[in-house]
Amino acid sequence: MTEADPVVMKLRQRLLADRKRIEEELRTLIESESSESAGESMGELSMYDNHPADMATETFEREKNEALIKNAETILKRIDMALESMERGTYGICRECKERISSERLEALPYAVTCMACQERSERKT
Ligand SMILES: [Zn+2]
Repeated sequence: MTEADPVVMKLRQRLLADRKRIEEELRTLIESESSESAGESMGELSMYDNHPADMATETFEREKNEALIKNAETILKRIDMALESMERGTYGICRECKERISSERLEALPYAVTCMACQERSERKT
């Protein structure tokens, strides 16, 4: 059974730890974003009064922040999916081809839901 599988148990611990860490990161990112829009960084900004290059930097920083938030949310979703599949006993099985995902891949990426071949195929498609 999956529950007795020590590898899965170990990966589960890692996923739970990752989940906690990413949740914290996400909270920090969201906080920094909302404080920016509330104008808390104005003091710093006014030094460069409407300098176009700095405005661009500011926009870039915000977009980067948004990308990081989106990325963190995606990973959280994938971690939840992995934890769920552990409970259902389907963890480590490729979502696409239903083959077993190699343990090396799961060690490197515990929330992987597809095997290497399917991952590469879907990356080529998009
Ligand atoms: Zn596959």
